[in-house]
Amino acid sequence: MGKVLVMLTAATAVLACSVATVMVRSRMKRRRKWRRVVGILQDLEESCETPLGRLRQMVDAVAVEMQAGLVSEGGSKLKMLLTFVDDLPNGSERGTYYALHLGGSYFRIIRVYLGGQRSSLQVQDVERHCIPTSLLNSTSEVLFDFLASSLQRFIEKEGHESISSQDVKRELAFTFSFPVKQTSLSSGVLIKWTKGFAISEMAGEDIAECLQGALNRRGLDIHVAALVNDTVGALSFGHYHDPDTIAAVVFGTGSNACYLERTDAIIKCQNPRTTSGSMVVNMEWGNFWSSRLPRTSYDIELDADSLNSNDMGFEKMIGGMYLGDIVRRVVLRMSKESDIFGPISSILSTPFVLRTDSVSAMHEDDTPELQEVARVLKHLGVRKVPLKVRKLVVKICDVVTRRAARLAAAGIAGILKKVGRDGSGGGGRKSDKQVMRRTVVAVEGGLYSNYRMFREYMDEALIDILGDDVAQHVVIKAMEDGSSIGSALLVASSHSVRTIASV
Ligand code: ADP
Ligand code: MG
Repeated sequence: MGKVLVMLTAATAVLACSVATVMVRSRMKRRRKWRRVVGILQDLEESCETPLGRLRQMVDAVAVEMQAGLVSEGGSKLKMLLTFVDDLPNGSERGTYYALHLGGSYFRIIRVYLGGQRSSLQVQDVERHCIPTSLLNSTSEVLFDFLASSLQRFIEKEGHESISSQDVKRELAFTFSFPVKQTSLSSGVLIKWTKGFAISEMAGEDIAECLQGALNRRGLDIHVAALVNDTVGALSFGHYHDPDTIAAVVFGTGSNACYLERTDAIIKCQNPRTTSGSMVVNMEWGNFWSSRLPRTSYDIELDADSLNSNDMGFEKMIGGMYLGDIVRRVVLRMSKESDIFGPISSILSTPFVLRTDSVSAMHEDDTPELQEVARVLKHLGVRKVPLKVRKLVVKICDVVTRRAARLAAAGIAGILKKVGRDGSGGGGRKSDKQVMRRTVVAVEGGLYSNYRMFREYMDEALIDILGDDVAQHVVIKAMEDGSSIGSALLVASSHSVRTIASV
C-alpha cells in the first residue's frame, strides 16, 4: 500500500512538473509572439516618423515642385493645372444655379439661389448619394447616362419656387474630382482616373461634352456652363464668404489642393488672358512625391496592388480611401506572424474591407473596454481579442492617421511658402519686419470633417511647422458641400461677367 502511494505521489509530481513545463513553454511562446507583434508596431512607428525637420524638408519640396510644375508642362509630378478661373465670386452674383458633383465616393446635386448679397445665398435643394460600385469600371455611356438620369429626377421633383416655371435654360456646374486638363472654364479632357475609377477609353475625352451629350439625349434643357475641379469649387465658396481665402484643400476619398497664383508666375502659360492678374491653379497634389516621404512596406504593397500603381503616391498616404487599407495591412501582417488575432481571417485579407470611418471609430473609441474596436474587429472576422490587443489596434490607427495628418499639414505649409505667406519673407529667413497678412485656407472633405484626431494632428503640425507667430495669421476654415456650392457660384460669376460685358 505504502509502495503504491509513493508511486502515485511520484507520478503526480511528474505530471505536475510536465504541466508546469508546458505552461511555462506556452507562456514563453505567447511572450515571443507578443514581442514579435510589438516589434512590427515599433517598425511601423519608426518608418512613419514625421519629425519637424522632415516636415520642413517636405514643405520646401512642395514649394520647389510647385515652382517646377509652373515652369514647364511635365516639369514636376505636380501637374499645376490651369483652371481658367481668374475671378472668384464676391457676393454680388444673382440667379439660380445647379451643380452636379462627382466625387470619389459620392455624387451630389444642388440648387442654389443667389440674391446679389452674401447673406441671400440659399441652398434650396441638395441630394447626396453613394456612387454605385458597378459604375467604377463601367463605360462612359453608363456613367454619364447615370448622372443625367439622376439630374433629371432631381429636376422633375422641383417645386414651383424653382426656375422651371420660368422660361430660362438651367445653368449647371459639373464639379469633377479627377485630374482634367482644362481648355476653358467650361471644357477639359480627362487626364486619368484615380480613386478606384477605371472606366476605359475615357482619358482624352472632354468631360463637359460627355455630360452635355447625355443631358441632350434625355432632352434636358440644361447647359453645362463650367467644368470645375472640386478644390476649385471649395476655393470659390471660401472666397465668396471670406476674400482672404487663397487656397483650398480637399481631404475626402482622395486629396488635392488648389490656390490662387499670379499669372506672371505661371511661366508655362504664355498668354493666360486674365483680367485679374491671377489664376487658380489646380495642383493635383495627390501625385506629389519626394524621397523624404516616410514610406513603409505597407505603402509599397498597397501601391503595387492598386489600379494606378506608381501614381498618386501622396494621395495614397493621406486619402480617406487608403488609410483604412494601410491599417488593415498592418493588422493582417501581425495576424500572420502571431496568433494574437486568432486564426487568420479571410475577411481581413480582402483589400479595402476596413474603411477609414471604421478606423476613426476605433481610434476615437473612449469606452473603457474598447467595445467599438471589438465591434469593428468582429466585422473583420476577428473575435474575442483581449484588451491589450485592442489597444494595439488603436495604436496602429493612431500611427497611420498621425502620419497622414502631419504630411497634409506640410502640404498646406508648402503652398503658404510658395505664395510667401509662411512668414519666411520669401527668402527662407524669418523677418521681424514682415507684416503677416491674414490667410485663409478652405478645407473640406469627409476625412477632415468626420475624423477629429486627423484634424487635431493636422492643426498641431501646422502650428509646429509655421511657429505660433505665423500660425496665428493662418485660418483653416472647414466647409461642408463647399465644392458643389462654390462651383455653382463660379457659373454665376462668369454669367454676371458675360451679362455685364454684353450690356
Ligand atoms: P468624396 O470624396 O466623394 O467627395 P467625401 O468628401 O464625403 O466624399 O469623403 C468621403 C471619404 O471620407 C470616405 O471615403 C472616407 O474615406 C472619409 N470618411 C467619411 N467618414 C469618415 C469618418 N467618420 N472618419 C474618417 N473618415 C471618414
Ligand atoms: Mg470631395
